Amino acid sequence: MSYSFNKSKFKEEILDHVRNFSRKTLEDCSLQELYQAVAFAVRDIITDHWIATQRAYNQKTPKTLYYLSMEFLIGRALGNNLVNMGIMEEVQEVLDELNIKINLAAIEEQEPDAGLGNGGLGRLAACFMDSLSTLSYPAYGCGIRYNYGIFKQKIEDGYQVEYPDDWLKNGNPWEVKRTDNAREIKFGGTVSSFVDERGKIHFVQQDYESVLAIPYDMPIVGYKNGFINALRLWDAEAPDKFILRFFDQGAYQKAVEQQTLAKTLVEVLYPNDNHYQGKELRLKQQYFFVSATLQQAIAKFKKSHSSLYLLPEKVVFQMNDTHPAVAVAELMRILLDEEQLEWDEAFDITTRTCAYTNHTIMIEALESWPIDLFSKLLPRIYQIIEEINRRFCISLREEHHLSENIIHNMSIISDGQIKMAYLAIVGSFSVNGVAAIHTEILKKDVLKNFYNVYPQKFNNKTNGITQRRWLGHANPELAALITHTIGDKWYTDLMELKKLLPYAHDKSFMKEFDDIKFHNKVRLAQYVKEHNGIVLNPHSIYDVQVKRLHEYKRQLMNVLHILMLYNEIKDNPNGNFVPRTFIFGAKAAPGYRKAKLIIKLINAVADKVNNDPLVRKYLTVVFIENYNVSNAEIIIPAANVSEQISTASKEASGTSNMKFMLNGALTVGTLDGANIEIYEEVGPENIFIFGLTCQEVLELYKSGNYSPWDIYHNDSEINRTLKSLINGTLSPDSPDLFVEIYESLINRAGDNLSDPYFILKDLRPYHAAQKLVDKAYLDKEGWIQKAIINTACSGKFSSDRTIKQYSSEIWGLESLKMNKKSY
Ligand SMILES: *Cc1c(COP(=O)(O)O)cnc(C)c1O
Repeated sequence: MSYSFNKSKFKEEILDHVRNFSRKTLEDCSLQELYQAVAFAVRDIITDHWIATQRAYNQKTPKTLYYLSMEFLIGRALGNNLVNMGIMEEVQEVLDELNIKINLAAIEEQEPDAGLGNGGLGRLAACFMDSLSTLSYPAYGCGIRYNYGIFKQKIEDGYQVEYPDDWLKNGNPWEVKRTDNAREIKFGGTVSSFVDERGKIHFVQQDYESVLAIPYDMPIVGYKNGFINALRLWDAEAPDKFILRFFDQGAYQKAVEQQTLAKTLVEVLYPNDNHYQGKELRLKQQYFFVSATLQQAIAKFKKSHSSLYLLPEKVVFQMNDTHPAVAVAELMRILLDEEQLEWDEAFDITTRTCAYTNHTIMIEALESWPIDLFSKLLPRIYQIIEEINRRFCISLREEHHLSENIIHNMSIISDGQIKMAYLAIVGSFSVNGVAAIHTEILKKDVLKNFYNVYPQKFNNKTNGITQRRWLGHANPELAALITHTIGDKWYTDLMELKKLLPYAHDKSFMKEFDDIKFHNKVRLAQYVKEHNGIVLNPHSIYDVQVKRLHEYKRQLMNVLHILMLYNEIKDNPNGNFVPRTFIFGAKAAPGYRKAKLIIKLINAVADKVNNDPLVRKYLTVVFIENYNVSNAEIIIPAANVSEQISTASKEASGTSNMKFMLNGALTVGTLDGANIEIYEEVGPENIFIFGLTCQEVLELYKSGNYSPWDIYHNDSEINRTLKSLINGTLSPDSPDLFVEIYESLINRAGDNLSDPYFILKDLRPYHAAQKLVDKAYLDKEGWIQKAIINTACSGKFSSDRTIKQYSSEIWGLESLKMNKKSY
């Protein structure tokens, strides 16, 4: 079932909207007003299908997924919706017929990115939503409607500067406020108990502060199937605006406090990626959206079911990392305190309804809340976690006969902290990692005690990306070539791309494929000219590293390699070098000093390289500011080389690696995360693998047998490169600027705290891999063939595959076949 598009009606809607909302005609309305008009006209079509989908839900009461995530890195909606509705060309035609000499792309650019996430984890949630709708699975994405998403990054004097992201300032044409679904969320106060006449204990929270949670629904449009799910983002309001009438001191004080709480609660997204920061407001955000979602899910369930024992057959809560792990205890609270179930019944239902996705093994990212903070804010929830833990520890002792030492290590509460990952594992029926190697490390290393107790819970779900956005929308020329060559089935079955393999040796296909890559490189060059004032050579290798700035992702190793090349060119000015453009994009968490200094270093190296007349014949370095979903859609299709160089074992999966592969870039990478599976798909000829393996890294950590000092002293090129960090080469005005980076790599002999990400250890192998890249690129036809093979072998990495696996192996969802009569 495709989407009903009526050209003349669509035209009328645009004209009406411009007239009614802007009081203008087409000739004198702004681009932004035109965007709003087009968006509302598109939303109008979506709405009919949305209502029909909702009606099918209500008639069939299918099992429903609630995907709980603190982050949804959606990006723009207009272009994506048009691709999924299959009306991109029709809408451009309407614009042409209205005689507006404006490209749809220019209108799309008026939409602010919905930047409600930091990086991979939030973007994964967005890709999953796209696949859930495309596969007709009943699902809600549940999160927070932050007033300010991830900050806007500007580069000033080479430094990152953060500006607020006021993404709602022109309103959001896609969202629908659902006041009818408001819920009350309670914080603080005390818990008292009483025994009723039948001897049952009841717990009551008193003297709490509360806020109202109000959902805003955004449509998630399935690909050409008329199926629309809701992304449900919760906003906070004060519970009763009229409470100010009660004018005695206490009530007034409380009313003002509740107003403040409601205002601050959803104000801003925490800008940390893969890093835990134990702020009270963050815990409030977590409980706020989890409690609102669970209350609403249970209320909806009870409308069509009489017994809560059916809950696990009809509802599943998937926790995207531990951020929503409080869901386990909140579901227990609802079942115990509001539904009056007994503990064992409630715990059985809870642990058959909740599931948990682990996203990292890095200790600095593990959430653990101090007991005093947690119990003050969520007193009843804390009691419930204590009881879950008490019973869990007893079972470890009596059923599993574990030692007191191991029990202490596994305890949900220990050393004054509540360990959210352990709560999530104990309270779930499924614990999954996000790439094969990551899941193996969880089972054999990080969570091995839990794996021994609950082997049946552990499973892998390798991440994926949606081809609709990352090929269909981001790379329309390649999408059209592929459709022309093998048909359009790849939009919903990415394994179809395998059919491109024979064309890897077809001269005419190779030329078209390469021409398209070239066009995309020119498109990016235009973007860089506009934003950086730097001219790029589209014949050079575009070597791209775009992702959050984090030490484990090793942007620093990339920069050191560039400095090595710089020295090579200076030493041998008449040498033959393959021209390369190094492109970076990365936001650093505003409080992450080291990461911000690395951004400054990248820009200092860029200045040095780009302003050296000799070197710039071969090398260009650009830092693209404000990396986000929308500029990723321009950057990634233009890449020849995809930098995926994390310290092995640190990148749980990675997903930009998949976007690059899909768009015909070759990976230079370590055997980490999903890189390993990419390697398996393309084979050793079509990827550049280097460096330590996960096992070697984990062993080096345990043995402490690593001496960057030795490398520094034995490798003269590396030695010279590191010294350029401290001898004024890069920052003549303040030669001490990068001392901190230098010292973190080599403190002193035998110091096993130096270079914890093994940058010096992997730098030589990385340098060698990059030489192989140069050599491969010189064989122009060979390179094009490798690029085509990368695209052709990327089918596994569709989020459709990932979501089907979640559905059949964890969630037990069924595709909702839409009844045509419901339209
Ligand atoms: C895909 C994506 C990411 C994740 O990139 P990794 O390299 O896997 O960390 C981060 N940010 C944006 C905007 C993305 O589109």
